[in-house]
Amino acid sequence: MAFGFACLPAGATYRLLRARVPAVLVPTRGLAADEDGLSLVDITVESGRIASIVAAGTASLDTGLDAVELDGGIVLPRPVDIHTHLDKGYLWPRRPNRDGTFMSALAGVDQDRSQHWTADDVRTRMNFGLRCAFAHGTGAIRTHLDSIGDQTDISWPVFAELREEWRGRIALQATALFPLDLVLDEETFRHVVATVARHGGLLGGVTFLGQAPDAATDHALDRIFQAADAEGLDVDLHVDESASPDARTLERIARAVIRNEFRGKVLCGHCCSLALQPEAEAERVIDLVAEARLAVVSLPLCNLYLQDRQPRRTPRWRGVVPIHELQAAGVPVMVASDNTRDPFYAYGDLDMIEVFREATRILHFDHSGHDWLRTIAATPADVMGLDRHGRIEAGDAADFVLTRARSLNEFLSRPQSDRMVVVAGRPIDTTLPDYRELDPLMNVPRRNAFGSQARSDG
Ligand SMILES: [Zn+2]
Repeated sequence: MAFGFACLPAGATYRLLRARVPAVLVPTRGLAADEDGLSLVDITVESGRIASIVAAGTASLDTGLDAVELDGGIVLPRPVDIHTHLDKGYLWPRRPNRDGTFMSALAGVDQDRSQHWTADDVRTRMNFGLRCAFAHGTGAIRTHLDSIGDQTDISWPVFAELREEWRGRIALQATALFPLDLVLDEETFRHVVATVARHGGLLGGVTFLGQAPDAATDHALDRIFQAADAEGLDVDLHVDESASPDARTLERIARAVIRNEFRGKVLCGHCCSLALQPEAEAERVIDLVAEARLAVVSLPLCNLYLQDRQPRRTPRWRGVVPIHELQAAGVPVMVASDNTRDPFYAYGDLDMIEVFREATRILHFDHSGHDWLRTIAATPADVMGLDRHGRIEAGDAADFVLTRARSLNEFLSRPQSDRMVVVAGRPIDTTLPDYRELDPLMNVPRRNAFGSQARSDG
């Protein structure tokens, strides 16, 4: 018998003994769970698929299969990252955000897009992001794609190519992103809808950009839900990413869904300003969100970075949605990466374990009597319509993230840099791509911080 996951057999048939799995992500009935909601199980993998999951020690060891003793280490399904911007990612050296504000981010990305976003540029940066996400263990990603002007016809075909290239490694979806008033330009909107429908994407939009919602907002939302209904598309919106008291479009979205009897799935991202509304008002909106069957994703890293940022003033709030209250009202809630190394968020690497670890601190997931691991796994998988993702279930591909942590405390205290990622039963290379690969896109002189001699090999 081998000991430790470093000894995973090269073949894709073996048994994992004494793995700790989140009970909430394992449909097997009758498993006991510890105070962290983790169950101790033995998992049999056959030809890259999960053959069985049983309580640890309850099945015969005499199967002739290689066995790997995990010694109680936590095993997760590969996470699902439901809100990203792969098309904006990894352009920081070329377009840093000088003051870290939302308005500078908008202006910086507008300028960068008009100057640099050729098919090659977008493809290279998107592919780099996918390699990072894959190495960190992510199994499915939804990205927003800026769908404004010429960019629509550049980014969507690149996305379609990458979705094919990555099939079997990362399941990919895309949502069109544009300011809401684009909808009022009949011809442009029709082109965006046709492009999205052709590529099997989703309709999106930014519902608040500084103006209090009015009749024109309702009209634009009606157009989006009617177009989505006609084409059979789901909808994924950027909502109230602001501290402004005027940022109140979440309620308008809920009313538009109810008014149009829209039956597709609707995901609302950010919803930051809801946390600043008076309690009674927020409760009323949350009830409406539940009635309209909206799902909500919080982007804790990006919103901690962008919201409440003022020169020489310490930030006073976290910028995140009231996720506990939404969850208690029965709204599907989740967390995701959002931007990575672009003017909207200077940092990040599409690592969902980092997102969950920081979300636990920022949103107080801990000590709450609720198991929040669903927010990076089964819940976003359900919203994306991927029933084979985000859980550990017999019959599914043997896709896991294996860690040495035996409790959530051990799991959340370290970055899990020694995690092992298993895809279809086999460990993958978790080496992260080198930032230097992107230097040719960044128009910056190459520097070598480690000495005066530049490397000749790369
Ligand atoms: Zn976003």
